[in-house]
Amino acid sequence: IKKSAKLIRNEFLDYFKGSLGHTFVRSSPVTPLNDQTIAFVNAGMNQFKGVFLNYHDPPATKVTNSQKCIRISGKHNDLDVVGNDTYHHTFFEMLGNWSFGDYFKKEACLYAWDLLTKHYGLKKDLLYITYFGGNEQLGLEPDLECKDIWLSIGVAKDKVLPFNMKDNFWEMGVNGPCGPCTEIHIDHRRRGSNQSMRVNKGYADLTELWNIVFIQYERLANGTIVPLPKYHVDTGMGLERLVALLQEKTSNYDTDLFQPLFKAIQKYTKAPEYKGEFFNDEYNLDSAYRILADHSRMITVALADGAVLEKNNKLRKIIRKAIDVGERVFKKENILLELSYAVADNLGDVYPELQTNLKKVQKIIEFEKELFKRLRVTSGKEWNKIVEIRPELASVTDWTAPGLLSGYKYLQNTLKNLITTKTLPGNVAFKLYDTYGLSEETINELAEIESLNLDTEAFQNELQNIKYQSKIGLNRKCQMHIKGSIDLLEKSHIPKTDDTLKYEYVFVEN
Ligand code: ATP
Ligand code: MG
Ligand code: MG
Ligand code: MG
Repeated sequence: IKKSAKLIRNEFLDYFKGSLGHTFVRSSPVTPLNDQTIAFVNAGMNQFKGVFLNYHDPPATKVTNSQKCIRISGKHNDLDVVGNDTYHHTFFEMLGNWSFGDYFKKEACLYAWDLLTKHYGLKKDLLYITYFGGNEQLGLEPDLECKDIWLSIGVAKDKVLPFNMKDNFWEMGVNGPCGPCTEIHIDHRRRGSNQSMRVNKGYADLTELWNIVFIQYERLANGTIVPLPKYHVDTGMGLERLVALLQEKTSNYDTDLFQPLFKAIQKYTKAPEYKGEFFNDEYNLDSAYRILADHSRMITVALADGAVLEKNNKLRKIIRKAIDVGERVFKKENILLELSYAVADNLGDVYPELQTNLKKVQKIIEFEKELFKRLRVTSGKEWNKIVEIRPELASVTDWTAPGLLSGYKYLQNTLKNLITTKTLPGNVAFKLYDTYGLSEETINELAEIESLNLDTEAFQNELQNIKYQSKIGLNRKCQMHIKGSIDLLEKSHIPKTDDTLKYEYVFVEN
């Protein structure tokens, strides 16, 4: 019998808590309270940023945790691949161990290797190691110390591979703490023969499992890189990928982290069962299963942690997309709500806030569903005006019907003859997008159905413009935030007792 995800997660934490003496620190909420530069927490290190920046002391010198992460925007944006691959999710759990000025490279590599090969029993010859190969321009030497550690642990020479800055050098931002990293990758197909050529090339059967970062430098404002007074270790392993390996599955979706959600969808919608097939089309059944299961985890977690949709348009768009997929493919408008129960069931004992805040989450989902529905009625009317359809026909098009476009498509032939406009101007398309919440794809589809020439260039210009505006807004917010933090630090001599910094310590479990 295979280990459950729950057991695998606990074994990781127990391994580091036990004789290795790490303190367990709870996951911070995915909505960062202390960091305006990111919309969502996207790695285990986020809640320890203040430690690396030397703003305050760590909760303990050795720490372990499992952090809720969301990657739908910014530097780490995996949204577009979700549904089409087996190992990226919008929400995932990052298992980590940390040394704040305590142990360094040798122990970090050894702990990871022993855990994977001895405790979890992964086959050694399926594992591949990457390390930092140096950068002449920046005067950074290859991390041969790290390479030698792996060789002394017994990893075969041709499986310890150097990579460049992009893959094996971690930086917190343009300036600040940084350092080389080493990663453990794994061959899922268990081929046996050497697969070094496939490492870091985006193959679904040879994926990254664990990233181990050595924070030993600081990049100064003038761009030069200098050693830090204290060295830290920051590691992150994707739980879903680990569980897939240990449950001997080639796809994360075939594990007990996602299967219960598929079952919930199937039971609720009576759709044919999930078969695990991959096509490049989000409206086929299996992709729809994956997208809904993935997005419902992310949405439930984000809302339970207090994400505010008015401030996070991206999240709102994803909620609408999930509703749309649910309606088109499964012909149900309440799947998201239904799935929030399943998510709380699956993860609620690890992250109790999913249970405590479930009612609130469901209220927001319900509200969003209604809002989306009303928007579609309005946008439908607006659209009808644009294409100058006779008013009596406008009411026939049921924009609230599941599938949004199906009713509309039905009428297309009748409508075609009535259209007088031949171009859909960019600013009108933009209004449909911005004011009425239609997605780019829907607008394109509508234009096609109506044989209208969408002025794509003008439309894209409008889109770019709004993206630029919101970026400026965010930058301004960041600047204000950074200034605020600096003021705060200057005023307070004991940062630990300051209210905004206390936050970091709330999550230490005694
Ligand atoms: P990848 O190259 O596969 O996109 P990454 O290099 O972006 O991963 P890191 O930032 O190094 O990932 O994060 C540490 C670990 O978190 C990864 O080794 C991986 O196991 C896991 N991980 C990263 N992104 C995702 C995701 N979108 N879904 C699930 N697990 C992820
Ligand atoms: Mg990535
Ligand atoms: Mg990577
Ligand atoms: Mg990585």
